[in-house]
Amino acid sequence: MTAIKRILTGDRPTGKLHLGHYVGSLKNRVALQDQYECFFIIADLHTLTTRPDKAHIEELRQNIHEMVLDYLAVGIDPERSTIFVQSAIPETYELNLIFEMLVTLPRVARLPSIKEMARAAQIDEEAVPFGLIGYPVLQAADILLPRAHLVPVGKDNEAHVEVTREIARRFNRLYGEVFPIPRALIGEVPTLVGIDGKAKMSKSLNNAIFLSDDPQTVNEKVRRMYTDPKRIRADIPGTVEGNPVFIYHDIFNPDVDEVNDLKERYRKGRVGDVEVKKKLARALNNFLDPIRERRARYAAQPGLVEEILVEGTRRMQEEARETMALVHEAMGMYGIQIRRRVQELTPPKVVPA
Ligand code: ATP
Ligand code: MG
Repeated sequence: MTAIKRILTGDRPTGKLHLGHYVGSLKNRVALQDQYECFFIIADLHTLTTRPDKAHIEELRQNIHEMVLDYLAVGIDPERSTIFVQSAIPETYELNLIFEMLVTLPRVARLPSIKEMARAAQIDEEAVPFGLIGYPVLQAADILLPRAHLVPVGKDNEAHVEVTREIARRFNRLYGEVFPIPRALIGEVPTLVGIDGKAKMSKSLNNAIFLSDDPQTVNEKVRRMYTDPKRIRADIPGTVEGNPVFIYHDIFNPDVDEVNDLKERYRKGRVGDVEVKKKLARALNNFLDPIRERRARYAAQPGLVEEILVEGTRRMQEEARETMALVHEAMGMYGIQIRRRVQELTPPKVVPA
């Protein structure tokens, strides 16, 4: 077993990262980089569960690029942490198949997250791909391939980590102790509300503030933000609790006195929405400024992102091979022994100069 414990977590490259990703998972990743050996996966195969089309596949290159820049911008350090692309690890596909045998169909099919993903992608019940039901199984392969102990995720992912734990236990019981039983680490803000007041900030719901939004965009999004609907005039007392504008103030505005003063006046009907929102936009922009600066600095270095991905993927491949050697040994499949014999007999190809 590895002495220093490991983290595996990541994101689907469906676009730029937003404040919800930050408070749900990224913040913990950055904070734990020194205490854990970190593996951050860009889960491109997972995006195929709802979008296997070629047009989407062509978007992945750009999306992956943006995602790595977002990682670097928030302070993920590729010198300390391993950033890799899921589809570049052949062992993921193999472990996924083995794990598919260790979980029942009803166990994964009843997860609300799967139904939600199908709904968000406008897929009818009869048209749900087999692979979408397998989403949490593939996630188990991602988490257990580097034999991770801790998985920093948002609340919506907790149930998936539970499936991983069950699969790891089942494997260990059937074949012998290979995998740690990983634990989910939920962020300080388990689920960040959207700017429209919907329960979850999400790209697909079009209610997100992105880490790479410029100050004008942030001002505009905050100006349109959902707030207490009863308050049609500034002199009507408003509700602070559960109000997205104040939820964001509490999270992103470090000036506690200012926030308390705004809350007090809001409750008494002595402050306009314009002032509350202006102060929130300023706090958000102050929070995002250093992230934007770092992003611009990294984006200006041509080839950097690809270099990071190549090195991270190489590192993860090493780890994956090691884990699969343990898996093969534990399972003792005759076919795998034949595979190894064939490999030994096949001389390495000489690459012509
Ligand atoms: P979106 O729904 O905006 O497309 P996503 O849910 O597809 O984003 P994922 O790649 O599924 O993003 O999730 C990446 C990580 O970010 C997960 O750990 C997830 O729990 C977390 N996360 C996503 N949105 C939020 C949010 N609004 N609040 C807290 N955590 C979140
Ligand atoms: Mg999600």
